[in-house]
Formats: sequence, structure tokens, C-alpha cells
Amino acid sequence: MDVTDDTIAAISTPLGEGGIGIVRLSGPDALGIAERIFRSPKGRRLGSVKSHTVTYGHIVDAATGTAVDEVLVTVMRAPHTYTAEDVAEINCHGGVLPLRRVLELVLRHGARLAEPGEFTKRAFLNGRLDLSQAEAVIDLIRARTDESRDLALAQLSGGLSEEITALRDAIASLCAQVEAQIDFPEDEIEPASEDLLVEEAGRIGQDISRLSRSFEEGRFFREGLRVAIVGRPNVGKSSLLNALLRRDRAIVTDTPGTTRDILEEYLNLNGLPVRIMDTAGIRETHEMAEQEGVIRSLKAIDDADLAIAVIDGSVPLHDEDREVLEKIREKKSIVALSKSDLPAAMPDPGTLLGDYSLNILRLSAKTGAGLDHLKDLIVNTMLIRSRQPRSSGHFDEGGGIIVTNVRHRTALDSSAEALKRAADALRSHQPLEIVAIEMRDALERLGEIVGAVSTEDILGRIFSEFCIGK
Ligand code: GDP
Repeated sequence: MDVTDDTIAAISTPLGEGGIGIVRLSGPDALGIAERIFRSPKGRRLGSVKSHTVTYGHIVDAATGTAVDEVLVTVMRAPHTYTAEDVAEINCHGGVLPLRRVLELVLRHGARLAEPGEFTKRAFLNGRLDLSQAEAVIDLIRARTDESRDLALAQLSGGLSEEITALRDAIASLCAQVEAQIDFPEDEIEPASEDLLVEEAGRIGQDISRLSRSFEEGRFFREGLRVAIVGRPNVGKSSLLNALLRRDRAIVTDTPGTTRDILEEYLNLNGLPVRIMDTAGIRETHEMAEQEGVIRSLKAIDDADLAIAVIDGSVPLHDEDREVLEKIREKKSIVALSKSDLPAAMPDPGTLLGDYSLNILRLSAKTGAGLDHLKDLIVNTMLIRSRQPRSSGHFDEGGGIIVTNVRHRTALDSSAEALKRAADALRSHQPLEIVAIEMRDALERLGEIVGAVSTEDILGRIFSEFCIGK
């Protein structure tokens, strides 16, 4: 574990011009260092002002006797601070130069430059946040929609931690029963209670697996749902993307096969971040660049969580359209019959397209007709399993805790597997020592999520993802 007896400092706001910029200090000498470079016109000393108050003054370079910046300093004493240590935040004028000069002064007076995420790491090491909460801080910073922000905030408030703690308690009590049998073998384990242990292990295992499965949904909120728009050239893919984005980014032309690059754009659909990959038209071709585009678009289909197949609804179904449908057969998909502002060439597309009739709709990129229906279909196709739209169009929290972090999912899966091995060992009457070892393993894997069990390696990986100053 790192020592936290030194004082760290960093510029905690983005570099660039802004209204204010903050140099943050945390550690035992945070207030001492701030006091040594600060002059208040009323003679206030930062070491003796009340906690959680703001003091006006100047940062002064004692070496030259000149003022570096006019500032407000927030003094927060341990333990009720972000890091649970003494914290001083120097609010400077938000230019790069004043911030750098203040940071230099702070470092010259005994602070050390903070590593990425070190403030949050200290909050963890000092027990103010557990590991899953510390990780939620990154999610919160990176959230792209209100919904992802809600999820991160729920995790930061300890939602996942509570769930993990309850599961760990349940396993610990199970383990205690097994260990009691090992320690006091004269009280022969009753077959009935063995069955009960197996049953209980199974129930806890199911709860863990349910939590693990929520990851897929969590990933959509964290990274965005990957949607590929596919179809033969000129059916209106780029126009659809543009209509969805309500701005012109993709190149729209009348010449087939000109959208060669896959463009990626983000949409916010009822709080679900959606990454749309507009792909080059799927079409057998001999022209090099186009062939490249076809390969890429097949890859985009592979990578996508959902494919939207666009078929020109104003002309009869083409063989190439059937090929496109064939390529997305294994995928979750929506079929969009485009150009609905023109006379329809397929009176009964449901029958014509057979299997695909479930998720079929008509739309027009030109008039915008059907676009809202498409957005609803995208969201419903992906999330219908557990979360119901609230009246506001957002999703209900009632679906329970959602795991958004791959590290957590891996730990959950290992824990569920260990519990399963424990139950199998019980069932096949293996020595109880084996059962206990598996149960301990299940317990430890869950402990990794909240940081009850952690290694420098895990911590290093997690906190290096942060920005400096957080
Ligand atoms: P892509 O090759 O599939 O990306 O197709 P584009 O988006 O480039 O569109 C091909 C042609 O169809 C262009 O001339 C568009 O103006 C036209 N188009 C696209 N969407 C619509 C629509 O909803 N209605 C009409 N009338 N024309 C459209």
C-alpha cells in the first residue's frame, strides 16, 4: 500500500482558458503549504480558518515578492473531504499560466505532483470509498447520457457495494456452517442440512449470475450500443444517419457506392447512448476501394449489437437486398423500408420478408416520418428484457443494480463458479475442507470488487485510467 503521509497537488480542472481553474492539494501539509504562499488582505491565516470555508487573497511568490494570482482558497479539514485528508483548493483565474505558476509554487513548498487518479485512490486507501465506488467516479466523469450518469451515481452511492456485501455475508454464513462441521466432526453433518447447504449455495450463485448478466445491459450504457446501418448502395443509409443526427456529416450523393468509410456517431436515445456505424453499401464489386468497404461493413455487422438493414421501399425488392438480409440473419436486427414519402413498391413487406416481419418499419429520411418509431424499436429491441420505460421515456431503476464494469463481471463469474464447485463437492460427498476452500474462493472473488481484497496491480490498473487531479 502507498504511504499517504506526503501531500499531493495537481491542477484539477481542464487545461485551457476558463472562468476559474483549481489547484488541489491533499495531505497532512496541504493547509500548511497553502498558508505559506497565501496572503490575505485581512491577515487571515489558512491554517486557522474554519473548515469548509472560502478565503480571499493572493498567491505570492516569496522569492520575488510578487503576486502570482488573485484567488479564493477553500479549506477543508479531514476527515470530511474527498480524500478524507486535509484538502485545500486554490481557485485561480482560469488561464494556463496562472495555474501552472501556482502549481509550481505549491510543489516548491513541499507538495508532490499527484499521479492520475491519486486523489480518488487516497479516498479508497483512507476507507472513504470502496473500490467499486472509486471506479464509479471514472464512469461519472465519462458518462455520455443522463442514464449512464444515473448508473454511475448509483454505484458511487454504494448501490453495488451493498449488493456485494449482502452476497458476501450470505456466503460467509454458509462457509461458517461448513467450517463448524470441520472443527466439530463429532456433530455428524445431517443429510438434510447438507441438502440445505447445496440449495443455499445454488440460490446465492443464481443471484451472483443475475448480477453478472446485467453487465451486457450495463455495457450499453457505458460504452454505447453499437448499431450498424447496412444495405445496398443508394437505399438511403447516409440520409437516415443524417436524419437521426439532424446534421449533415456523412457524404450523401446520387452515385452508388460513394459512402466508403464507416463513420461513427453518437446518438442519445431515451438515455441510451447509441454508436451508429454507417457502413459502405454491401455489394459484390470488383472495384478495390469498394471491396474494402464491403469487407469493413461485414466487420461492422459482426461487431454490432444491432443491425438496421435499410431497403429502398420505393423500388421492388432486389437480390442484393436479400443478400443483406441473409448477412444479418444471426443478428438482432431491424428492417427499415426507406423513402416512405415515395409510393410504396412493396404492398406487403411482412410476407415478402418472412422472418424479418417482426421488426419491420417504414420511414422517410426526407420527411422524418417513422424516425421516432425506429428509435423506440432500437431501445426496445435491446432492453426489453428487464427494464421498463418510465413515463418520461427513461428507464426505471426497478431493474435493480446494473454491473457496468468488466472487472466486476469477471469477479462475479469466478465467484459463481467457485460456489458451483462448492455445491458439487457437497453433493458428491467430498471432504468438507474442499467445500470450504471453494467457498472461501467465492468470497474472495467478490471481495475484489469492493477492494476488500486488492493488490497493487489491480489498484494500479484502475487508478491509472483517471485524469490527473481527480
Ligand atoms: P446510401 O448510399 O444508402 O447511403 O444512400 P444515400 O443516403 O446516399 O441516398 C441515396 C439517394 O436516395 C439520394 O439521392 C437521397 O437523396 C435519396 N433518399 C434518401 N432517403 C430518402 C427519402 O427518405 N426519401 C426520398 N425521396 N429520397 C431519399
